[in-house]
Amino acid sequence: MNPKSKSSKNYLSRQLLTGFGISLATVGLTTLGLNYFLIESNLEQELKQRAQSITQGVGFSTEGLIELGNTSIIKRVVQNYATLPTVVEVAIVSPNGQTLARSGLELQNLPYASIHPELAQWLEQAAQTGVETSLRTTVEGKPALVEILPFSSTLFASIDRRGLAIAILDVEQMQQQAWHTFSASTVTLIVGMSVILALMAVMIQRSILQPLQRLNKAVTESQSTDYFVMPSGLSDNEIQFLAQTIQDAVTIRVQAYKQIEQEIAQRKQIEAALQLAKEAAEAANHAKSEFLANMNHELRTPLNGILGYAQILDRDPATTEKQRKGLEVIHQCGSHLLTLINDILDLSKLEVQKMELYPQDFHLANFLTTTVEMCRIKAEQKGVAFHYQPDRNLPTAVHADDKRLRQVLLNLLSNAVKFTDFGRVTFTVEKVENREQENTGFTRLRFQVEDTGIGIVPEKLESIFLPFEQAGKRDRNSEGTGLGLAIGQQIVQVMGSTIQVKSIPNKGSTFWFEVDVPAAADWLNQSETAHQKIIGYQGEPRKILVIDDRRENRAVLIGMLQPLGFKLAEADDGHTGLDTALQMRPDLIITDVMMSRMNGLEMTRRLRQLPDFAHTPIIASAASLSQVDMQEAMEAGCNGFFPKPIEFTGLLSQLEHHLELQWIYELAPETIESSVTASQTADWIVPPPGQLAALYRAAKDGFMADIQQEADRLKQVDRQYAPFANKMLELSQRFDDEAIINLLEPYV
Ligand code: ADP
Repeated sequence: MNPKSKSSKNYLSRQLLTGFGISLATVGLTTLGLNYFLIESNLEQELKQRAQSITQGVGFSTEGLIELGNTSIIKRVVQNYATLPTVVEVAIVSPNGQTLARSGLELQNLPYASIHPELAQWLEQAAQTGVETSLRTTVEGKPALVEILPFSSTLFASIDRRGLAIAILDVEQMQQQAWHTFSASTVTLIVGMSVILALMAVMIQRSILQPLQRLNKAVTESQSTDYFVMPSGLSDNEIQFLAQTIQDAVTIRVQAYKQIEQEIAQRKQIEAALQLAKEAAEAANHAKSEFLANMNHELRTPLNGILGYAQILDRDPATTEKQRKGLEVIHQCGSHLLTLINDILDLSKLEVQKMELYPQDFHLANFLTTTVEMCRIKAEQKGVAFHYQPDRNLPTAVHADDKRLRQVLLNLLSNAVKFTDFGRVTFTVEKVENREQENTGFTRLRFQVEDTGIGIVPEKLESIFLPFEQAGKRDRNSEGTGLGLAIGQQIVQVMGSTIQVKSIPNKGSTFWFEVDVPAAADWLNQSETAHQKIIGYQGEPRKILVIDDRRENRAVLIGMLQPLGFKLAEADDGHTGLDTALQMRPDLIITDVMMSRMNGLEMTRRLRQLPDFAHTPIIASAASLSQVDMQEAMEAGCNGFFPKPIEFTGLLSQLEHHLELQWIYELAPETIESSVTASQTADWIVPPPGQLAALYRAAKDGFMADIQQEADRLKQVDRQYAPFANKMLELSQRFDDEAIINLLEPYV
């Protein structure tokens, strides 16, 4: 039992007993007071009656005895009456006030008023008025009751005065008697009250406190045992009713508690299952990411070798034209494979919403032409006309993620070709006039692909942008995966826009989107030297340390840089790299990131702690190009970052920047070739202007396939036009429409 219930119990019994005690005391005291008053007044009444009967008896006897003249008998009567209890004095007084007889002392004939002067007034008054008088007064210093009874006798000469029979009774005795009676009743009352209180205490204890105590114990126990045991021996009263109510409440509470417990247990089970599922999903996702990262690395490493050597050999003066064409094919296939790898990665990034853009400056017209050419061939194979209509006001170069943009356009164009059997596919690129963008350096470009193909039913128009959604029949979709538009839409959304579509089944579809692209600022400066071949640099030979655990990767870099006059050293992990760096003190370090014995970033961190290497440029090269990698590389102390497979021009511009190099350019033969002038055409026989018009228009419009068609036609018109037509074909294969226009301009 806790202290609280104990104190409340004490409080309750004390309260009840105090209440009863006070009530009893009040009633008892009131009764006592009343009792005392009644006793006293009864005794007084009795005293008075006794005094009256004495005076009457005395007066009556006296009347007759006076007539007989027997005073001695009168005295004896008086004396007799005086023996009665509480009687102090009895006396007979004549009308003239003389004492005829008086109990006690023998004092004859004295005026009675002189014996008791304090009664004189009342004696006189009674004698005169004849009215019986009863009074409480003090006689000889003692409280007394005085009864004065006037009486007449023929013997009394005086008519106006009467004789008096006087009785004086002791009041003190009466009071003592009353007090005795009162004391006795008080004692009885107190004893009675105590007995009642004790009985009540026992009753309260037995019928209230003990049941309450048992009830309390039962309630306390129910809290730990979860069930309520009805206390035994409860009378059928309110406490039992209360116990019943508590039992019901405890039962309900326990049931509710058990239900909650069950629910909590169920929820915990569900949470645990969810947690397990989450962990499993996370582990699977992690494993997938790791797998993709590893695959990415594994696939890019051989590609780095393929693409790197294709570039190295392409630059080799000993390479013949035929070999160069083969190398171009190798490079194109490698690039295509790279695009495929990137697409697979895109898909995984799309799933985790991690698509990122890497914008750069590029020549818009060239970009569009190459994109178009990739699809035109397919269209022509299917006998579908392909129209490419670029706006004349398009900016020369823009700053955007060309690879992503090409990915979107290729998907839209190849879909258009794929889902069109008759008619044509029209690709329009135009500049959208936008007043808000004036002077902002941004241009809004609208790309639109329109076809006369099978179209899409209205209810499928939205879902085709969801992954793995295909609208048409199965056989037609067998080529695709249903991912293209989902990836495309995601990319365009990252670019701040949305791909839109309208379509009429069996009539055709139009897909379009508009994006805001900034113009490329330094394009003109870059383009001046872009086509010139770098053969070396001015000044002292610079030392470069190449660290990569793959021999072929190191070989590519060395193959690219050695011919330019760099002094190269290599290492196959971070540890050896560190030692080699300390020995050779390179001017620049190019390091792989993922290596088994000390990775590139750890090596960089260690190098940065050495004062000699505090400022040595370190370029990290890795297979994955995510922001996190770049961020990590920068934090480790790298100055630059570029992805594998290595792109030669990009690498050179990093070296130029970090080593502050002045390149030495070679006047490459292709430069001369591409700026073909009229004088060089002297050996060729140029067809007449009429034959050249279609060719010139095709060149102006940038339609490479049309140029090739025209060149073939010219060969057939006259064999002597063959050298001229071959030149056209060669230039068109390089998409060098500018050179074709320059060449034709003097003749049309
Ligand atoms: P897929 O790999 O199947 O081409 P996409 O995501 O590119 O995947 O396209 C999704 C679906 O949208 C296609 O399967 C096709 O049903 C429909 N679709 C896309 N473009 C066209 C179009 N130009 N004409 C008709 N249907 C199209």
